Formats: sequence, structure tokens, C-alpha cells
Amino acid sequence: MESECPYCKAPLELLEDLSWQTCSQCQHRLHVQTQAVFARARASFAAGQEALGAIAGSRDRGAIRALEARGILAYQQALSGLEVAFGPHLTEDQRHAGIEMMTEITRVLSGKGMVSAVFASYWFTLLVEENARRERDDLVEKLAGPTHRGLLGLPVRWHWQLRRSQLTRALARLDRQIRQLEVAIAFADVPRARLLKP
Ligand SMILES: [Zn+2]
Repeated sequence: MESECPYCKAPLELLEDLSWQTCSQCQHRLHVQTQAVFARARASFAAGQEALGAIAGSRDRGAIRALEARGILAYQQALSGLEVAFGPHLTEDQRHAGIEMMTEITRVLSGKGMVSAVFASYWFTLLVEENARRERDDLVEKLAGPTHRGLLGLPVRWHWQLRRSQLTRALARLDRQIRQLEVAIAFADVPRARLLKP
């Protein structure tokens, strides 16, 4: 199937009879099945967004029902694809985008009673964790940088340090919440969407 390299964005023909494939432009090795499943899930998500987004511009009840059915079906397909794609072979950007898509899909599907509110809350909490971890990593990097001198330097560092410890506490709390949600949902297989070390 036609796709693009997740590392360098070069156009790429995924050879689905292979397990692994090397991008001819950047030489990264790609797990073919993961890339194919993720690419199809992302396309389904986009199709679902388009159909559900078109509802607002339609006045015909039949057309609205058809758009809604098409959108929901596309979201269900995206959801089952993403559940398969999560794991060690996605790039970091794809993993993050996958969590964003799952948050939106489960928000919509739980509103229709098609997935549980606990399941939607799980993906939303994963997204909150992602954002907190990104902000924390950013601060750790800034604090490791050259010391800012002068009157303004110290208050800025104090602010960063304070925020970093707030985020560290928040991440510990989110980790407990996510584990509780995993128990409540009773996954047969917990989706491998989180980093091993948050
Ligand atoms: Zn590449």
C-alpha cells in the first residue's frame, strides 16, 4: 500500500509480504504490519471526522443518519486498528497521535453508549499523562541548560523547579489512576500505548 516513512516523510510503498522494510531515503527500519495497520487506522479516523463534521452542514434527516452511521463505523475501524498498532514498533510521534485519536474516538463512541465511560476516561487520562510528561521533560532539559545569571535568572529557575515537582507529583497520581482504570476495564490485553517509564 502507498504510505509515507514516519521518520523522514518520504513516499513509501509498504511491501506487505515482508515483516521489515528499510526506508530507501533515511534507512530507518520499519515494521511493515504495524505501519500498514496504523496508516489504515489514521485514514479511517480522518474519514470518520469528515463524515461526523459534515453533519452540522446537513438538514436532511436521512443524510444526517447516513453520515452519522458512516462516521461511527469509521471510528470503530480506527479504534480496532489502533489497539493492534500500539506497541514497540510505532514511532514516538505516532504513539502520541494514536493516543490523541483514541481520546477523540472513545469520547464520541461513549456518547453513543458504544464503549463505556470508563474506557473513554482511560484514554483521556493517558492523554493528560502524555502532556504532563512532555512538559516535565521539557523543563528537565531547560534546567540542565546553562544557568541564567542576573536578577531575572533565579526566579525563572525557581519557577521551573517548582513546576517540575508539581508535574512529578501529578505523574505519580496519574499513574495510580491509570492502573485503577486498567483494573476497572479488565482488559484482556492492556493496550501498549504508554511509555514503560513515564
Ligand atoms: Zn525514511
